[in-house]
Amino acid sequence: MDEQRRGQIAANLAAVRERIAAAAAKAGRDPAEITLVAVTKTYPAADVLHLAALGVADVGENRDQEAAPKAAETAAAGVDLRWHFIGQLQRNKARSVASYAAMVHSVDSVRLADALGAAAARAAQEGRPGPLDALVQLSVDGDPDRGGALPAGDDPDRAMLRVARAIAGSPALRLRGVMAVAPLDWAPDRAFAEVARCAALVRAEFPDATVVSAGMSDDLDEAVACGATHVRIGSALLGMRPPLR
Ligand SMILES: *Cc1c(COP(=O)(O)O)cnc(C)c1O
Repeated sequence: MDEQRRGQIAANLAAVRERIAAAAAKAGRDPAEITLVAVTKTYPAADVLHLAALGVADVGENRDQEAAPKAAETAAAGVDLRWHFIGQLQRNKARSVASYAAMVHSVDSVRLADALGAAAARAAQEGRPGPLDALVQLSVDGDPDRGGALPAGDDPDRAMLRVARAIAGSPALRLRGVMAVAPLDWAPDRAFAEVARCAALVRAEFPDATVVSAGMSDDLDEAVACGATHVRIGSALLGMRPPLR
């Protein structure tokens, strides 16, 4: 183990936990109701093991090609983690993701919900314990050309409530709530207020769907103020990533 790297991650983790605690205190919330998902994309499995040794139980990845071998490597090392899939998911990767993920944050169409439901049913037959948790990924600005389910309208494949119903109707999936990324050109507090509004609409129909996955390294404070239950933090823990490959 690289002691220097572990020390650096430990210091970053302490700072992130402080930020979450301060934002929660300011919002009158219990920090224990906020789950830190450490986003480990582009970083090696060794960093995941450092995080696990420091008490992190939830890790996030956005590409199956990268996540699957890391999940296998950490499992082989005897480390038990909850893997969160947070990236755009192609339907032909659903089977792989259902074999290791605890929660998929990025379900944004009825077609994807159906494919993931079928993949999770198959994974259950192959020994996966329990249903696969799933979130409806929202398009905060409602732009249909970007990813995310549409908060308004009644598009048969992309409307937010239709995606929620497709997840809830799949026996191998469990609808847990919503996820969003704040659009670059929106102020974070405005974006997360819109996420909170959408989360409440989903909860009105599905009271158990209480998860709000929102907030990244740059905007976790605003997300916690607006009710995030899961924050997805990468660079503040592990350092700046090289530009997108
Ligand atoms: C990379 C990523 C994150 C983490 O972003 P940071 O700014 O590094 O904290 C969170 N959510 C999603 C969907 C991501 O792709």
